[in-house]
Amino acid sequence: MAQFNKKKYDVIVLGAGAAGLMCAFTAAQRGLSVLVLEKANKVGKKILMSGGGRCNFTNRDVSAGNFISANPHFCKSALSQYTQWDFISMVEQHGIEYEERKHGQLFCLHTANDILSMLLHECELAGVEIKTHCSVASVKEISETEKSRYRISINTENTQSNKTSSVDCHSLVIATGALSVPTLGGSDIGYTIAEQFGLSLIPRRAGLAPFMFSDSMKSLCERLSGSSLEVEVTCNGTQFNEDMLFTHRGLSGPVMLQISNYWFPGDEIEINLLPTVDVQQWIIESKQQQTKSQLKNVLNQRLPKSLVLELEKLWWANHSDTPMAEFSDKQLLAIADRLENWKLKPSATEGYRTAEVTLGGVNTDNISSKTMETKGQSGLFFIGEVLDVTGHLGGFNFQWAWSSGFCAGQNVSL
Ligand SMILES: Cc1cc2nc3c(=O)[nH]c(=O)nc-3n(C[C@H](O)[C@H](O)[C@H](O)COP(=O)(O)OP(=O)(O)OC[C@H]3O[C@@H](n4cnc5c(N)ncnc54)[C@H](O)[C@@H]3O)c2cc1C
Repeated sequence: MAQFNKKKYDVIVLGAGAAGLMCAFTAAQRGLSVLVLEKANKVGKKILMSGGGRCNFTNRDVSAGNFISANPHFCKSALSQYTQWDFISMVEQHGIEYEERKHGQLFCLHTANDILSMLLHECELAGVEIKTHCSVASVKEISETEKSRYRISINTENTQSNKTSSVDCHSLVIATGALSVPTLGGSDIGYTIAEQFGLSLIPRRAGLAPFMFSDSMKSLCERLSGSSLEVEVTCNGTQFNEDMLFTHRGLSGPVMLQISNYWFPGDEIEINLLPTVDVQQWIIESKQQQTKSQLKNVLNQRLPKSLVLELEKLWWANHSDTPMAEFSDKQLLAIADRLENWKLKPSATEGYRTAEVTLGGVNTDNISSKTMETKGQSGLFFIGEVLDVTGHLGGFNFQWAWSSGFCAGQNVSL
């Protein structure tokens, strides 16, 4: 059975991920007794896997516009109470080396473990108790005897046995994350607890996820698997400019992950393969200047050869040997239009198995944006990804975990 130092804590945090650890030491620094319960064998698994092992821990340019939520204003208070600069300053105090990449994204120079070690060091200094192998089975509101409001039932797993135990607290923080990547701790317990206390949920779906195709695009992507290029992609009025990667399942890379947050089943995406070029003008000028060249040789100047060969099969298969001069302007302009507006219909995203985040979640109408406490339910807090706040790719999801975790940590009480 899990051995806890106490039977009652001022604060219990469910989930030792980014938001939970941040909240735990913030609360403990205020003199509160804090217990963190984690179902996995290790804490902070997503932190360790993040940013290709280097953890894109925040972004230099954070604003509400980088987040998706049914209430786009909800995130503002927390993001201003604990900013990216606050987190960067903690990273610097701990002597962690980091680098800035494209679009203001900040990554560890060495390893994501630097960020996890920093959080754990802060927890240790503040006296936070962390228990792994403790899967929260249920939560119960108890009468306020001896200042405890909540009783947590825990399934404790060890190599020998599975046992159930319980522990009480005055403030309860739900930081159990969301559904994405079950092997890294993705779980629905946070939603179950929210519903138990009468909170509503915004429908959930996989976000920051690669696209799959079931039509002829699937085999095209398979053949091009591994090649990448910078494109502009549009869906439902939102646009991103970034790298696209062909995979054996479909399309991935930062640009596709970003746009997947705005895509719904049945929607088309529109890809501009040459976002930095006036394609119509270039292709007509090329006809005049490179009269004997084949179209593929012109396009090879700006696009990967393997992609051009696939496009030729799709769009001008009967003219593969035709010299540029023999194309009509109309034919070339139609091809230019396709290069700028390649319309594709993904069959699905890869789903929660590989999605970096879960869109939707606990409806923020139920939650105070200043404190993260549930309205009308004293002492119950929700932070991090379990809430209906989802960041763009680029360090925004961790910044939300830090900011919301900090606010709850400042407002939990004994
Ligand atoms: C592969 C990958 C790479 C990513 N890279 C980045 C990146 O570079 N930058 C960025 O900003 N974001 C990134 N993200 C997103 C980011 O990891 C999440 O948004 C963030 O971890 C959410 O923090 P959280 O604390 O809310 O949830 P989590 O970090 O998921 O933590 C929740 C914790 O709760 C535990 N838990 C679940 N159920 C129970 C239970 N019943 N009892 C006890 N404990 C439980 C889980 O095991 C887990 O440890 C990435 C995500 C993935 C999957």
